[in-house]
Amino acid sequence: MPPCERMRVEIVSVGTELLLGQIVDTNAAWLSARLAEIGVSVYRRVTVGDNLERLVDALRDALRRTEGVITIGGLGPTEDDLTREAIAQVLGEPLITDEALAEHIRQLFAQRGREATPQQLRQAMRPPSARPIPNPNGTAPGLHAEKNGQFILALPGPPNEFQPMVQDYVLPLLAKHTGGQVIRSRVLRLGGIGESDAEAALGELVRSENPTLAPLAKLGEVHFRITARANSPAEAETLIAQMERAVRERLGRFIYGTDDTTLEQVVVERLRERGESLAVAESCTGGLLGKRITDVPGSSEVFLGGIIAYSNAVKHSMVGVPSEVLETVGAVSEPTARALAEGVRQRLGSYWGIGITGIAGPGGGTPDKPVGLVYIGVSSPHETTVYRQIFLGDRAAVRWRATQFALWQLYERLRNP
Ligand code: AMP
Ligand code: MG
Repeated sequence: MPPCERMRVEIVSVGTELLLGQIVDTNAAWLSARLAEIGVSVYRRVTVGDNLERLVDALRDALRRTEGVITIGGLGPTEDDLTREAIAQVLGEPLITDEALAEHIRQLFAQRGREATPQQLRQAMRPPSARPIPNPNGTAPGLHAEKNGQFILALPGPPNEFQPMVQDYVLPLLAKHTGGQVIRSRVLRLGGIGESDAEAALGELVRSENPTLAPLAKLGEVHFRITARANSPAEAETLIAQMERAVRERLGRFIYGTDDTTLEQVVVERLRERGESLAVAESCTGGLLGKRITDVPGSSEVFLGGIIAYSNAVKHSMVGVPSEVLETVGAVSEPTARALAEGVRQRLGSYWGIGITGIAGPGGGTPDKPVGLVYIGVSSPHETTVYRQIFLGDRAAVRWRATQFALWQLYERLRNP
């Protein structure tokens, strides 16, 4: 592949299910964003069904205008997976079996006590001049072909296979040919602030071109990805560090971690540093908070346990929420959240106690207690605070946001000495 200052590519998504609207082409959108970050211009995106003739057509067409084309999907073992054949036709080559790939596929199946069928072994076929792109998360490798200084990169459709192959193979490959530059990125993870407030605080920084600063809205938190292009890794790191410093100056108190660090991880870490323990009483989140905390290895040092206090009877008998409270103001109320947080702290003997009670929906809402209303209590030996929140989204979103909010409140307390 020759070097190229301004690289133009087109993306061809393959799959009748995409044309029927049964799935949405999230891969192409995700890929476009990654390519933009490294300065590769996506000139056109097309979607074709599982049809050999139209696929060949789409590839030839794209190659008339570009330095290369990237295909998504159609590399699987079934009859309708035709991307391999189409690439062979475009290259004017036959398909041969790559013995090393075939052996690899046989071994993957043998590990699971099964035998690879001839169908499965179709995935080991490639045009002789194309090279396989490793796929650590699946059986179908990708393909990297070149002809007359142009490239064709073929990647499988499942996002958990597709994304790592783009990160580990495609982006480094293309970055190398756009002037020998390297790409580095870092994600800053923020809690306790919404995307629009965060963006407003960052002002002109989000329009920076190198490094770029891109928001990624997540459920109950916001991420910003800093991506730098430079002539060396050290230079890229310097650009990232400068941008990170600028973001921290404006939003430092909301940043709880970078890259793959989760909020539950930093909460467990701080609890360990402080030698403090936690117990939770959960109603509408049904154990999700306890689950997230126990996802963190080593959480047993700080997490004593949780009570899923779903019914009023259990709220009363197991956590000690007074019956009068449940009868007068109800289970979804400030006093109930307070009694859950304090009760679980006292009964389990922890330093911190968290109580969550609310209406996750879709049913059960009333005018004064709408779906999404959640009370979250945070209790220590010194004080108990209860928050009233209305979370948007479906049942799963409300539950997730409630645990996110609780973790953030605890984190804020743990961060301060
Ligand atoms: P395929 O590689 O075409 O056999 O696709 C396998 C699976 O990957 C499909 O059933 C989808 O679940 C997923 N998939 C395929 N193409 C896309 C795409 N463009 N965006 C998101 N998911 C996809
Ligand atoms: Mg398909």
